[in-house]
Amino acid sequence: VRILITNDDGIFSEGLKTLAEAMAEIGDVFVVAPDREQSASGHSLTLNRPLRLQKVREQWYAVDGTPTDCVNMAVHGVLKGARPDLVVSGINFGVNMGDDVTYSGTVSAAFEASLHNIPAVAFSQEIEEGFSFERAAANAKLVIEALLSTDLPRDLLLNVNFPACEHLGLRWTKLGKRYYEQSIIEKTDPKGRKYYWISGIPRWDQSVEGTDHMALTQGLISVTPLHLDLTDYRGLDEQAPLRYRLEHLELRERLEKTGV
Ligand code: MN
Repeated sequence: VRILITNDDGIFSEGLKTLAEAMAEIGDVFVVAPDREQSASGHSLTLNRPLRLQKVREQWYAVDGTPTDCVNMAVHGVLKGARPDLVVSGINFGVNMGDDVTYSGTVSAAFEASLHNIPAVAFSQEIEEGFSFERAAANAKLVIEALLSTDLPRDLLLNVNFPACEHLGLRWTKLGKRYYEQSIIEKTDPKGRKYYWISGIPRWDQSVEGTDHMALTQGLISVTPLHLDLTDYRGLDEQAPLRYRLEHLELRERLEKTGV
């Protein structure tokens, strides 16, 4: 199998190196990853400047862009005519759970693979005392081997988070709900101008069972199946009154001069 590896922490990050070593025991590994950290870049695509591709070593390429750029460069460039069977992203330095998956470059690389009809798995490691990329990579390998032993659906999109402690098991989870006590920190630069940092302390909704966050607090690896169809299917029904009002708006057919 041909496995494409990318990440958002940069091509020289420990998590990617460890993952690539583990994946090399399973298949033919290609690495196309950002040349520097691109965490929280989300699903961003670079269209306002050219991209540069630098060969780091055999089958390893650095791109001066985002994880999404890397998947595109790999599929349409480096691996043109030899599509990867699987895209694996990570192992990210830090968890990507709950609502944070939309900010995550690690998960967005998997999103991008999914848009290209390639099965994809994003791996992230909780960073607390006792964490180990080696332990995570060893179990990532078991997960990927299990996936490859089945008929992989092309729209398979999994978000995997490893707890920092010893892995006591694995749970199939849903995304948790996170409430940031978000704030803006304001400072003044040497020239007297204001600058700002977006900051926040994460708080998790503990009332919901079966979430990724809950699994990690129990020492379990969480595996969340994701889908890029963001339609609110419940909302299609539940927002019926709003739907009625909007569908019955008397729309303007043309802009009339108001005689001003
Ligand atoms: Mn990252």
